[in-house]
Amino acid sequence: MTHCPYCALQCATLLSGADAPSATVRPDPVFPVNRGGLCQKGWTAPEVLRAPDRLRAPMVRGPDGELTPTDWDDALDLVADRLRELRARHGADAVGVFGSGGLTNEKAYALGKFARVALATSQIDYNGRFCMSSAAAAANAAFGLDRGLPFPVSDLGEADVVLLAGSNPAETMPPLMRHLERPQLIVIDPRATRTAERAALHLRPAPGTDLALALGLLHLAVTEGRLDEDYVKERTAGFEEAWQQAVGWWPEQVERITGVPASDQREAVRLLAEAPRAYVLTGRGAEQHSKGSDTAAAFVNLALALGLPGRIGSGYGTLTGQGNGQGGREHGQKADQLPGYRMITDPDARAHVAGVWGVDAEALPGPGRSAYELLDALGTAQGPRALLVFGSNPVVSAPRAAHVADRLSALDLLVVADFVPSETAALADVVLPVAQWAEEEGTMTNLEGRVLRRRPLLSPPPGVRTDLEVLRGLAVRLGQPAHRFPTAPREVFAELRRASAGGRADYSGISYDRLDAGEALHWPCPEGDGAHPGTPRLFLDRFAHPDGRARFAPVDHRPSAAVPDATFPLLATTGRLLAHYQSGAQTRRVPALLAAAPAPFVEVHPDTALRYGLADGEPAVVRSAHGSVEARVRLSRALRADTVFLPFHFPGPGAANLLTGSALDPRSRMPEFKVTAVAVTPSVAA
Ligand code: SF4
Repeated sequence: MTHCPYCALQCATLLSGADAPSATVRPDPVFPVNRGGLCQKGWTAPEVLRAPDRLRAPMVRGPDGELTPTDWDDALDLVADRLRELRARHGADAVGVFGSGGLTNEKAYALGKFARVALATSQIDYNGRFCMSSAAAAANAAFGLDRGLPFPVSDLGEADVVLLAGSNPAETMPPLMRHLERPQLIVIDPRATRTAERAALHLRPAPGTDLALALGLLHLAVTEGRLDEDYVKERTAGFEEAWQQAVGWWPEQVERITGVPASDQREAVRLLAEAPRAYVLTGRGAEQHSKGSDTAAAFVNLALALGLPGRIGSGYGTLTGQGNGQGGREHGQKADQLPGYRMITDPDARAHVAGVWGVDAEALPGPGRSAYELLDALGTAQGPRALLVFGSNPVVSAPRAAHVADRLSALDLLVVADFVPSETAALADVVLPVAQWAEEEGTMTNLEGRVLRRRPLLSPPPGVRTDLEVLRGLAVRLGQPAHRFPTAPREVFAELRRASAGGRADYSGISYDRLDAGEALHWPCPEGDGAHPGTPRLFLDRFAHPDGRARFAPVDHRPSAAVPDATFPLLATTGRLLAHYQSGAQTRRVPALLAAAPAPFVEVHPDTALRYGLADGEPAVVRSAHGSVEARVRLSRALRADTVFLPFHFPGPGAANLLTGSALDPRSRMPEFKVTAVAVTPSVAA
């Protein structure tokens, strides 16, 4: 048994077949998260193992500008020589590292250690910054700890009402819907998604106004006598300050800004407040904004006002996106963090981790740039001159994609470790072929904080190495002792456990043996006298702040960075399709998935199409202040007339992130993916 290579649900799969050409999967019927279900991506995952263009040898760009196969020693020698040279000339921060929420816990941990110890650079961050950072910032501030779902997924199935703010699991993680059959759903989404079709109540705010809506719902909870006063008094702090921000958000004002009728706002609060068991869940639709952390915090405020978090059968959570989006943010590949979800600026944390690593705490670098800021600085006088990318495809997934491609091209050295030739690998000076899901061993941590075993069921193709082997190969060439960078995942996990001990995400009591014995272990799981059972439900007695109380956040609405005007009169929002995952580098290589969603499109309301001369199926150009996209028009009444939608899985002239801008959330550094002012016109060729 192993787990699907894609999203954070981490559905359990049983793989059959002795090799990649014959491999097939079927769902594990007993794993409680997917309960025998898989989406089309999961069913077809073996296709990525046999992708015809699978990388099988290291490649180095030659004088003719072409990537040419070479052997591992030559490739790693070249990379190490260039890194040494750049560091000698420009300092340690001349080398940057870009990781991924798709890496196993072991790889994420080893990558952070490699950056801080072997490279001594502060310049490391990862693509999870584009995914989970806003909800993580809000949860850390509110509860003192961020775990996507602080309860098992299966608890949702016992609920009476679930509010989903900016999440579309019917398309992004369909097996989750098995847990949402009983509860009434309140869906907040500008689009009438497949999830919204199943909702008892669908609120359709204008893109970028979720924060105003959340403030309005808190206002109604208080003014209509729904506040759980005992809970607020006994288990929280800061209500008055938060209420002062929400007090002016009368339903009529909220309706004017969001477009959500006051009657629907009242009904949402009534449903939530009268439900014996209720959950508030946020997703990327609410979080991927330049005010994403405040928006997530406003939904946390609502949940706290209703007394939901920290009660069995109720709560607040966020639906993590990437496969290891949870573990990926705990083990030290974030710009500001060390393993165990520790802050890199905390002297005690530095001393603990340095002790585990056998290095001097004083020598560890400080915090670095966040993901977009790191990409933006590449090749500039102050920024890194080299970048090592592991498991990420920022040319497609980062905002302001054309600018990011320019910055990557300006580097003295770009190294990409991946298993398929992604669009980012196509720009690289050196490409290193690595093993993928069913070929590698390790652990992943799913959206409910449950640690899962990834098992090597097939051998990788000859010529392919694991990321851990790549990191050791480079570290040794950079003068590190080989024992400091083990390549056996079990050994790395044993070290990760020690590094995490006593931290906010404590894995010290979890072992491969316990997981292999079938134990369901959710962190925190500290090592102690007996075997700790893990913590499937957090906060039942106290929240993780020193006084045990959750914190309301005094947040207020503000406009998005991009406001429609005469030049760009529409709002573009981006999102996912059922058939594809992230930048599409994997799923676009699966014939059935490509057939299901072969090309980019722009979804437009028929009234909008009429107004701007657009026709269904015809090519159009979508323009923003940052770039333009070519895509065919798809008419849909699922949209508001002021909004257009583009999927972000496609590269080239149809890449949705050619449109998105560089506005960042001040706390989480999340880019503004969900709101861009655009114009849509028929293509000249049409
Ligand atoms: Fe499950 Fe997500 Fe994989 Fe689909 S993509 S099978 S929902 S883990």
